[in-house]
Amino acid sequence: MAEPIGPISRLTKELTKLPGIGPKSADRLAHFLLAGDRSVATQLAEALYHAVSSVRACRKCGNYSEGELCPICLDPKRDPSLICVVETPRDIDAIERVGFFKGRYHVLGGRLAPLEGIGPDKLSYSSLVDRVHQEQIKEIILATSPTLEGDTTALFAANLLKGAGVTLSRLARGVPTGSSLELANTQMLLDALEGRQKFT
Ligand SMILES: [Zn+2]
Repeated sequence: MAEPIGPISRLTKELTKLPGIGPKSADRLAHFLLAGDRSVATQLAEALYHAVSSVRACRKCGNYSEGELCPICLDPKRDPSLICVVETPRDIDAIERVGFFKGRYHVLGGRLAPLEGIGPDKLSYSSLVDRVHQEQIKEIILATSPTLEGDTTALFAANLLKGAGVTLSRLARGVPTGSSLELANTQMLLDALEGRQKFT
């Protein structure tokens, strides 16, 4: 039988599961959290618990939300005829920071990566198609990442929505290829949104 794991080892092990945290960093963080004044650790634990237990996916767009619908879907000032399709809620934050886009969003939940087992069934394409049929949508901006997988993900959506009577556009290449939306700076994203190109 495996030895029971001690609390410090357990904490370190959990920290190594975070992106960008290797064993050394995990060890340093665990010791930082446990040393001296523990208010940082206590508040972090409470914030984490609160976020995990209260934040869910918006029923309509998939953005993070405390209620059934997120504040963007509920905002009557947002243009309901315009939808920006993104991979993750983090991309919404990046686009919102630019402040240019006044429509609503649809979160796919990732990008197509067949080699990692992420096929179209793992992404929320079907609810996007449902929205196009149920809502008065005129334009869909496919704002997936400027990578090969992001392009494939956008193309798949474009093919699904062909003939649905909506204008389909893709972000212009203002965002450097191979990068992700959240890493693009505000001006790049603004250029990419303004210069969006229609799918033909
Ligand atoms: Zn929403």
